[in-house]
Amino acid sequence: MSLRLRLTILYSAITGGILLIFGILLYSLVNILLVAQVDSTLSQTTSDLLVGWRVGPAGELSQETLPQLNLTSFVYYQIWDNNGRLHSSSPGLGQISQPFDPIGYQSKRSIFRESIVQNVHLRVLNVPLEAGGRPIGTLQVAASLTMVDTTRQSLIQTILIIAVAAIIFAALLSWFFNARVLSPLVDITESALRISGADDLSQRIPQRGPENDEMGRLVTAFNDTLGRLEQLFSSQQRFLADVSHELRTPLTVIKGNADLMRRMQKVDKESLDNIEDEADRLTRLVGDLLLEAQAESGKLPLHFAPVELDTLLLEVFKEMRVLARERVQLKLPEIDQIVINGDRDRLKQVLINLVSNAIKYTPQGGEVFLSLGKVGDNARLIVRDTGQGIPSEDLPHIFERFYRAEKSRSRSKVGGFGLGLSIAYWIVNHHGGQIEVDSAEGKGTTFCIYLPLIKAVELSPTD
Ligand code: ADP
Repeated sequence: MSLRLRLTILYSAITGGILLIFGILLYSLVNILLVAQVDSTLSQTTSDLLVGWRVGPAGELSQETLPQLNLTSFVYYQIWDNNGRLHSSSPGLGQISQPFDPIGYQSKRSIFRESIVQNVHLRVLNVPLEAGGRPIGTLQVAASLTMVDTTRQSLIQTILIIAVAAIIFAALLSWFFNARVLSPLVDITESALRISGADDLSQRIPQRGPENDEMGRLVTAFNDTLGRLEQLFSSQQRFLADVSHELRTPLTVIKGNADLMRRMQKVDKESLDNIEDEADRLTRLVGDLLLEAQAESGKLPLHFAPVELDTLLLEVFKEMRVLARERVQLKLPEIDQIVINGDRDRLKQVLINLVSNAIKYTPQGGEVFLSLGKVGDNARLIVRDTGQGIPSEDLPHIFERFYRAEKSRSRSKVGGFGLGLSIAYWIVNHHGGQIEVDSAEGKGTTFCIYLPLIKAVELSPTD
């Protein structure tokens, strides 16, 4: 069943329900008022009647004067004595030989009841008559309820007609209104089908209505998701192209060198070195891919323990100085003693990635500065170089997986796989820290890492 039909049925059912409750209340109210009016007439008539009657010494009833009754043609009375004989009655219906209300007639107290006599619906007030505490008979005053019944019936009919008309009107109105409200959903579905049919994630759903209502927000969210998917898809495609390219180069070199040695019929040192270098590169690629996959699926375990950041930075500094050799000057201008809670190996991996990038992307004669200090509640690690810098259009993307600036991509000998920074970002983030980058093309790049310091309460006495 379509959503449009379901909503229409729901609205109509709600309208019907409200009208039903309203109808029942209205009917009950009118009924109570009508019956109360009849009852009041009966009570009034009873008082008028009782004025004109006297009781004799033997308890017999006698009519002294005919009361000035304001009897309408709908009000009748009967007076029955103790022996069940009709003592007197009003003209018309009152003259029939049976009591207006055979049950209430026995009652010991005044009571209103309804009964049917000769097919006439009556409202009867039964009043027991007493003299000196002795029962002497019963007065029954009755009024026809024909008018009341007619009114009741007309009221029910009117309520039913209004209810049916209102339900039909509500159904039609909501059917057309729903069509209008749900039309963006139809648009979204059609666009989504078009997009998946054409395999084209660059398409977007047009905003037809206001952007800040539910439908507008749904369209925006859907378009954002498409944008994100497109981005992921293209980065995956780029990654596949990059990985195949990265794999092909070392494999070609390895195969070429192996062929060469076979033809030369001897083991050549240079060829072996080449093979080893390329195998290392392949190992790094596979390692990075594995890490990335683990981080992505949340399965990269972090082993937290107090880490002396200064010792760690010094270690990285010494190791990387070997890599920088004479080509780039590696300097350590500022280092504070700082302990944080973290995974030492992963933090070292982050630092090595940043410093090796800085060395990699800084030309001969350039400088790379490392520093460690405290800023507020954080330790701040800075890796600054005077290298080629990152173009501003690449800057917002460099923490994305597989992203490499155009320049580094074309220089695949120097560049890595575009995974290092995204892994670094993940690691810093999962330490509750932040990693920031600032770069000016041709001038250099600065990476800042902020990591929360251990709070005093977290330090155990042995720490
Ligand atoms: P890669 O292994 O390719 O270096 P990274 O994720 O570590 O991958 O870096 C992503 C990209 O960011 C690099 O390809 C490079 O273009 C750019 N980049 C990172 N660090 C620097 C830097 N210090 N100077 C210039 N460009 C950098």
